[in-house]
Order: sequence, then structure tokens, then C-alpha cells
Amino acid sequence: MPNQDVIKAVRRGCLIEVTDCIHFIKGPGMSDYDFNKSVKAVKKRIKDVWEAPEFKWKCCKVKFKFEYVKDAANDADDKTLHPKRGRSTQEGLGPSKSTGNWFVGEIGQPGGAGLPLEPDVPSAPHEVGHELGLRDKYHAVDAKGDPVPEQVVNKDGDLVNNPKFDHYKPEANYPLDGVMFDPPGNPIPQQVDIDEILANLGIDCPDNCCEEKVTKKK
Ligand SMILES: [Zn+2]
Repeated sequence: MPNQDVIKAVRRGCLIEVTDCIHFIKGPGMSDYDFNKSVKAVKKRIKDVWEAPEFKWKCCKVKFKFEYVKDAANDADDKTLHPKRGRSTQEGLGPSKSTGNWFVGEIGQPGGAGLPLEPDVPSAPHEVGHELGLRDKYHAVDAKGDPVPEQVVNKDGDLVNNPKFDHYKPEANYPLDGVMFDPPGNPIPQQVDIDEILANLGIDCPDNCCEEKVTKKK
């Protein structure tokens, strides 16, 4: 379920606007300069994937709009940006469980003349999907494509990577470029994702929005 403390859906006529406030925290070892640069890059990435397209819920148009708070410490929604490459994760599946660790890339690593590399933020739109209440739409499989757990407990009782794990596979009918798969390229929110978000937010699209469209076509 989306966290309705920070996510709101408002309908005006046949347009539904979903707003979300995202809280960022500067991770350990990150300079103010890199933090600001990362937030800027993450915002752009989120805008391109979630704000630019126009989505639909039944016959209504849906627009997403994000606001941002920086250094919002000690808040249940805080996301910590880390200045390294890694696997970004976010809980995001229940009220007050939208915290996360977002890895934004090797900022500050040699990029020539001391220039930082551009933050690497491909996973930001995926983590926003979690923020909006979506779960991962993939699972771990072995080399043959059969489902396996991603991690297992070894003989010492530690949680380790499953030696049989080979790659991730999207759920049935979920495309490779779907934002809740694990896309390195150009993630795209799918209609099934939008339907799930809006249904969870409990907002409806009245039947007359469908009727209006029919009338206009005549
Ligand atoms: Zn995920």
C-alpha cells in the first residue's frame, strides 16, 4: 500500500493528480556538492519517467507530481543517498515504511581534473514505484529459468547469495522495460502499475468521464 501520509490523489473533473513528497538524506561520505548534484540528477530521472508521460486510470487522465525535501532527517519517509554504486532498495510497501537506501553512483571518483562523474541513478524511478506502493515484478531464477530464492542460509547460518541464482526474470506478462522489473535502460511504468497505484489510493474515476469522450468523438 502507498504511504498516504505523503502521497495524495486529487481528482478535478476527469484529471487525477497524484502528488508525493520525497525526502532525501545525505549518506555517509557524501559532500554537500555531490548530494546536491545527486538530488538534481535523481529529480530529472524521476521527472522523465513518472512526470512527463500522461497515464490513464479507467477514463481519467493521471498525472504524477513530485516534491522534494532535502535533509529531512528522522522521518519515516527518508531515503538516504549513497555516493557509491550498489543495489538501491526501498521498503515502501506500507504506511511509514517508505524509507530506503538509494545508490547514486561513483560520484567524486576520478572523472578527469577532479570532476565528479555524473550520478548514476537508473534505479531511482524503480524505487519511486515502491514509494507509490508497487512491489517488484520479477523473481530470481537459475540458469534454466526455474525460480530459486535469491539468498539462502549457509551452513554457518549466514544469509548468502544462492549459488543457483543466475538472473532475474520478470513476472508473466510484465515487460523487460517495465519500471518494476530491473531495468538498466529506459524504464516505463506500465498500465498495470498505474491501475494498482490508483486502486490502492482509493480514488475513483466517474463513469461520465467515459461518456464525455464518446460525445466528443461524434
Ligand atoms: Zn525493487
